[in-house]
Amino acid sequence: MKQFQFEFINAEQLTKELEKISLWVKNTMTSGVGFQIYAETMEHDRVKEVCSLIKSVLPDAYYIGASTNGNIVNGVKSESDIVIVGTVFEYPSTKVEVLQYELTNDTFKDVTADLVKKVDERPWVKGIEMLVTIRGMSMTGFCNELSKVRKGVKIFGGGAFNSDINSTETYVFSSSGDIASHSVVFVLLGGDDLFISTTYVTGWKPLGRELFVTKAKGAVLNEIDGQPAYNTYQKYLKIGNDEYFFRNTLEFPLFYYYNGINILRAPTNALPDGSLEMTADINEHVKARLAYGDPETILKEIRTARNSLAEFCPEGIRIYSCAARRTYWGDTEISNETAPFNSVAPTSGFFTSGEFMRTGRFVNQHNVTLVIAAMREGQATEQELQGFSFLSDESAGKFSLINRLANFIEISTKELEEANRRLEVMAVTDELTQVFNRREIQKRIKQALKEEDSSVSLIMLDVDFFKRVNDTYGHKVGDNVLKGLTAMLRDELDRVRCNAVAGRWGGEEFMVLLSNCAPGYADKIAENIRKRFSELDFEDCPHQTISLGTAEALENETSDSLCSRVDHALYDAKNSGRNRVCSAKDIQ
Ligand code: GH3
Ligand code: MG
Ligand code: MG
Repeated sequence: MKQFQFEFINAEQLTKELEKISLWVKNTMTSGVGFQIYAETMEHDRVKEVCSLIKSVLPDAYYIGASTNGNIVNGVKSESDIVIVGTVFEYPSTKVEVLQYELTNDTFKDVTADLVKKVDERPWVKGIEMLVTIRGMSMTGFCNELSKVRKGVKIFGGGAFNSDINSTETYVFSSSGDIASHSVVFVLLGGDDLFISTTYVTGWKPLGRELFVTKAKGAVLNEIDGQPAYNTYQKYLKIGNDEYFFRNTLEFPLFYYYNGINILRAPTNALPDGSLEMTADINEHVKARLAYGDPETILKEIRTARNSLAEFCPEGIRIYSCAARRTYWGDTEISNETAPFNSVAPTSGFFTSGEFMRTGRFVNQHNVTLVIAAMREGQATEQELQGFSFLSDESAGKFSLINRLANFIEISTKELEEANRRLEVMAVTDELTQVFNRREIQKRIKQALKEEDSSVSLIMLDVDFFKRVNDTYGHKVGDNVLKGLTAMLRDELDRVRCNAVAGRWGGEEFMVLLSNCAPGYADKIAENIRKRFSELDFEDCPHQTISLGTAEALENETSDSLCSRVDHALYDAKNSGRNRVCSAKDIQ
């Protein structure tokens, strides 16, 4: 495989470049030629000119292309509005096929179903390169459908864009279809000797405490932790809702955990009600965290990605980089993070409106991310890597100030979260017995009764003649009896076939809450508990017994009424001889 990449200047220059490729094709064993055309222009005629020149010099070649927010050639941001990448496949086993479909919210299910079918019919497919127009589309739905493509097939690509990030005009095109503004182009790539490796790099790091997305719809993030989402940016980062909003929030986009990975979303705009418009869909009820982007940290991650990519020994690299990264770095510095890859293999690509990559089974739309696809034909050979000095080489091993501060926030947040978690547990737990305390079990009984379709039962139990244990063997021995009782209780409740929790009601009295259990089941559990306790051995005192009451909640019963009925049942058990179970339903 050989990748040619160059900027389009004019027809004469392009013809020369194409003839060079044509000559290469004639002199080498080749199986096919394909072109990527990245166009930071809305002038369709210029694109058409490129396409027809390719057709005339290399009539068998395929091509695909998209409008972009800037192009990458030889690893750096191109000055030219059109960049052309030619890939010559040299192994006879390598197969390539281009598909183009109209893509709208009405067609995406048919499109993906057809793609899934075509891939199933073509066992040779190893990867799918995708150029897609994403404006006006539910990309979450589209990605979910794409995830149905045969497992193991890599999927990667980018969303078409416009040189003006506020413009909605975009297009894709290919040798299998026209220039179209609602369309998707797929290149099926495969064969025994073609190898594809995909990866993504953000470089952004999570920062501070977890935030909970309490309300969101599509790409609008309404609320974080029950507050207007904008408040998070105002309160923690003092980012004003002004013309610099996008630039400022770009340093602190949101990471959220979705389909098993961390995905970035950046706010583009704050609405009057405090909702945030995001770069793409964000799901409701996910946990998110602010992330911070710091040039040195990002470049460090780029270095790591570049080094591991080098081990794959690629012959060509495609980069789908978020247009937001171009905004973040600026046009000169942006190349600092793309150039390192060109020292591994010829690297080209474009700035997207969204980057796509499959991780595991799922296809995800990323933002603020570099998606990288590397390709090779044949076995990996030890390549002599061209020397490359990273900008951050001098400071390798050093930590930037922002990195130290972020680390400080990260570690102290973790410590606080851990301390909070311990306090939360303490606040609901009885210290001696480690079951819930009375306040917590009361709260849970009330909650359980509120839930629809949930049958609730209580078991109340009390140690028989416990005063005697204390009086005869001492308070410490008494404490151990209570610990033994609750250890057994927790073990027994772990085995039951319904939700079951226990709490200390007071002194030597305990309450068990059962929900979603069958009628009569509470009596069985209670009897098991009674029997097991009566057989429990204690170090310093003989076997003890408990009495138990049970009650099943009646329709619309209050917790006061239910607790009072189970208390009566327990009283009955005491009065009728102790060491037994009495049910509230047997009380007249
Ligand atoms: P009954 O069978 O009627 O329940 O008789 P009882 O002796 O168990 O009942 P009573 O209510 O007279 O006594 C309960 C005793 O439980 C009194 C109290 O000292 C003891 N107790 C309460 N909490 C604890 C505790 O945390 N540790 C110890 N060791 N004893 C406790
Ligand atoms: Mg007692
Ligand atoms: Mg008691």
